[in-house]
Amino acid sequence: MPYMACTVSEPKSSLPLLKVLIAAPRGFCAGVDRAIQIVELALERFGAPVYVRHEIVHNRFVVERLRSLGAIFVDELDEVPDDRPVVFSAHGVPKSVPAAAQARNLTYVDATCPLVSKVHRQAERLIEEGRHILFIGHAGHPEVIGTFGQVPEGSITLVETVGDVEQLQLADSANLAFLTQTTLSVDDTMAIVEALKRRFPSIRAPRSEDICYATSNRQAAVKAIAPECDRMLVIGAPNSSNSLRLAEVAERIGVPARLIEHAADIDWQWLGEPKTVGITAGASAPEVLVREVVDALRTRFDVREEVADHIAERMIFKLPRELVSERAA
Ligand code: SF4
Repeated sequence: MPYMACTVSEPKSSLPLLKVLIAAPRGFCAGVDRAIQIVELALERFGAPVYVRHEIVHNRFVVERLRSLGAIFVDELDEVPDDRPVVFSAHGVPKSVPAAAQARNLTYVDATCPLVSKVHRQAERLIEEGRHILFIGHAGHPEVIGTFGQVPEGSITLVETVGDVEQLQLADSANLAFLTQTTLSVDDTMAIVEALKRRFPSIRAPRSEDICYATSNRQAAVKAIAPECDRMLVIGAPNSSNSLRLAEVAERIGVPARLIEHAADIDWQWLGEPKTVGITAGASAPEVLVREVVDALRTRFDVREEVADHIAERMIFKLPRELVSERAA
C-alpha cells in the first residue's frame, strides 16, 4: 500500500542534504500505553513504592522514568514486601505468579496486554479440547514463558524455525493446534505455519491472527518506506522482539538497518552520507527517542523530514476497573 508523505520541515543549511523518512505507525502500541498507565495509576492509587515484576515493557527509557516516579522493578515475586502492591508486566505471566500473589495476600494489578491474554485463553481452550499445542515463538521471551505457564507442563511445544517443524517428534500428531507469540516476523511465521500445515495437515489454526495489529502494522510501515531508504534506524531495546523484527524486515529488503536504543548509539561511520534514512520505533519505544534521533541527524545533515503515513491506528485498551474507578471516586 502506498504511504502519504507529509513534509514536516525544510530548514536551509550548508550541510549535506538528507531526507529522513519516518515510518508510521511506529512506537507505542495500545498494550504498552496501557501498561505504562497502569503503573502510573497504581502509584497514584497506592503511593510509592509500587513493585513491578520484570520490565513493564522492554524499554530502558520507560523503565527509568517509572523508577523515578517510585516504581521498583524486581525479577521475582518473593522480592516484593507483603505490604506493597505489585504490577505484572505487559508480556503476561504464568498462572503460578498471580496464584503465589494471592497466597501471600498481595495486592496485584495485571498489566498483561489484552492481546496476549487472548492467546492465553486460546491455549486453555485447546488443552480442554484435548489438543497438544505447537507454539511458534522465541525461547526465553517473557511472553512465551507466560503462555507456557497457562497450561500443564508437556502440553505445549515450542517451535522457533521451519527446521524445528521438520524435526518434531510427537507421540500423537492427530490432535494438534498451533498458536503464536504476538510480536513475531509476519513473513517468518507464515513460512513456519506453512511447514506445520504441510507436515500435519489436520492441525488446528487459531481463529484469527495472533501476531498483533501493532507488530504487523509496524512491519508493513517499514516495508513501505524501505525501498526508498539507504539506511534504516530502528529505535528499540535489544531485548524487544518486535523492534528486532523491524530491523530484520528492512535488512531483508536490502536496506542496512541498525537497532539503537537512543541517539547516542548512532554509528556515524556506518551511516555514512546517505541520501535517505528511514526511522522507525518498536512498540515499546517512546516518541521522544525518535525526536532525539532526528535532532542528532540535524547536527550533521540538512534534514528534510517526512512522515510516511501508512496505516491509521485507533486501538485503545480499557484500564483495569480497580484503578479507574478509584480515580473517578
Ligand atoms: S506489541 Fe501487541 S501484543 Fe505486545 S503489548 Fe503491544 S499490542 Fe499488545
